[in-house]
Amino acid sequence: MNRFFLRLQQFMHGRNGLDKFCGFLFIIYTIIVVLNFFFHSIYLLAAELLVAVYIVFRALSRNIFKRSKENQAYIKVERKVKAFLLRQKGRLRDIKTHRYIKCKNCKAQLRVKRIKGEHTVHCPKCQCNFKVKIH
Ligand SMILES: [Zn+2]
Repeated sequence: MNRFFLRLQQFMHGRNGLDKFCGFLFIIYTIIVVLNFFFHSIYLLAAELLVAVYIVFRALSRNIFKRSKENQAYIKVERKVKAFLLRQKGRLRDIKTHRYIKCKNCKAQLRVKRIKGEHTVHCPKCQCNFKVKIH
């Protein structure tokens, strides 16, 4: 068994291996497999195969520079999506107590207390004041 891992290690030397993007692709693959379990579609089977081949291609690729660039691009998108979801979670949490508005000057997101009536809002980013009506 030890020899097997040594051989595997030698085989994987200089190859990309499994990275975060591969992990994401594996999740996609799993979702497609589960969907195909219920729908038995030839298109889902084709998608399943394509994703599996792409995962293997990425793991075995010797062009580490290019695979690393793809992984970095994926991580950048993942970070943006996570930040967006976190913002939405915060918005949902205080939906009863606060309102989110955009600054009329710089389009920054501002959180104001949900008090009915017309208020003057100060934007801390661009230092401008503007009126907003909360109902
Ligand atoms: Zn502003």
